[in-house]
Amino acid sequence: MLDFGLTGRKALVCASSKGLGFGCAEALARTGVNLVMCARGADRLAEAADVLRRKTGVEITEVACDITTPEGRAAVLEAAGTVDILVNNAGGPPAGDFRDWEREDWIKAIDANMLTAIELIKAVIDPMIKNKFGRIVNITSGAVKSPIPQLGLSNGARAGLTGFVAGLSRQVAIHNVTINNLLPGQYNTDRIEMLIDVRAKQEGKSNAEIRKSLESGNPTGRLGEIDEFGFACAYICSAHSGFLVGQNILVDGGNLNLTM
Ligand code: NAP
Repeated sequence: MLDFGLTGRKALVCASSKGLGFGCAEALARTGVNLVMCARGADRLAEAADVLRRKTGVEITEVACDITTPEGRAAVLEAAGTVDILVNNAGGPPAGDFRDWEREDWIKAIDANMLTAIELIKAVIDPMIKNKFGRIVNITSGAVKSPIPQLGLSNGARAGLTGFVAGLSRQVAIHNVTINNLLPGQYNTDRIEMLIDVRAKQEGKSNAEIRKSLESGNPTGRLGEIDEFGFACAYICSAHSGFLVGQNILVDGGNLNLTM
């Protein structure tokens, strides 16, 4: 039997009441990891935590907060205490045209999708180094490897986080602390519904037509499911993954066709 070597470890999984964050939380819980989960909406978060408690029996603490604010991060970190695993995630920025974005829009995107992750890494990494075990996974986007024109705010903020992580991950690997980025392609979540809606309006097509074109354009003929994404996250967090350092792992059904 394959043992991920994580039983009894503690993970902080951000933005995890649904979607990809929930997929990661569920996969980690299934390997025996106790969880601290957060999201802004308290009701859905409580439901999500209950589902995982019932399914897996692990200990779960929920904190309803906005992880992109200093107050939200302080509340989560206080509830979490020392963690062995950190999964960074937050909602993605809106799509649009860069001519419409002001400085405030950029600051918001950089705060949510770059600086929040860096602040949380800063808060948890020294105890991980001391414990000689740590796994940090940043949920970024396939847009890091293949930028999506209408998601300029996301492309910019995530590129910044990716560059930072490339350096830091090499500084801490000696302590069995790994930092990697997990890049979603297109998954069946509410976020993709929103993007389908934007494209349908732009292209004058129905949402069903856009969804069909996304599905048929993918080598697998479908969009990804959150449990598939979660499984990849659990693998990166495994006790046996100490040699996986500073990588940008794209899980997109082969949508981006690169030879290397
Ligand atoms: P989703 O289904 O909309 O779920 C987002 C989750 O994050 C919810 O639990 C939401 O709960 C929580 N959340 C959002 N903003 C938050 C905040 N400020 N503080 C705390 N929790 C917050 O989204 P998803 O599809 O899983 O996407 C997750 C990330 O992956 C996003 O950054 C997205 O851009 C990126 N991504 C997704 C795809 C895809 O195909 N789905 C592709 C590429 C990149 P509350 O709303 O209650 O806070």
